[in-house]
Amino acid sequence: MEKKLKTRGIGLKELRGCDVCGGSLAPFFKVVTMEFALFNRRNLQGVLGTTMILGGPENPGALAIAAAMAPGADEIVTVSEEADTTIELFICQKCEMGKICLAEVAQKRHDAIEKRENDASQRNPVDTSVG
Ligand SMILES: [Zn+2]
Repeated sequence: MEKKLKTRGIGLKELRGCDVCGGSLAPFFKVVTMEFALFNRRNLQGVLGTTMILGGPENPGALAIAAAMAPGADEIVTVSEEADTTIELFICQKCEMGKICLAEVAQKRHDAIEKRENDASQRNPVDTSVG
C-alpha cells in the first residue's frame, strides 16, 4: 500500500529568498519554525514537591508517579503559540550545511516582517474620519 505524504502548500506571494543569505531556495529547502518556550516554574515545583512527598528521587518510581499525578505535570514547559513569538524561516541547502546563528536569522526576519507591516500601514492608513 502506498503511503500518502502529508504536505501543505506555500504560495508564490509567500516565497522569498533564503532568510540567511538571500539566495535561491530551489529546488528544495528547509522551513524552520521557531516558537518561544519557557519552563513553567509552578508546575515544575508541583512535580518536584510531589516527588519529595513520595520519598524523593532516590525512591524508584517516585518521579514517574509524581509526573502522573501532580497537577500541571503535563505542562512543565509552556510553548507560546502567539504569532509575535513564532517565526518561520526559509533556509537554503547551502546555508543549512554551514554555521548559522538562528537568533540572528530570526531577528533579521522579524525586522523584515515589521518593516513590511509598517510600509503597508503607511500606504493604507486607517481612516478614522467620521463620514
Ligand atoms: Zn542561504
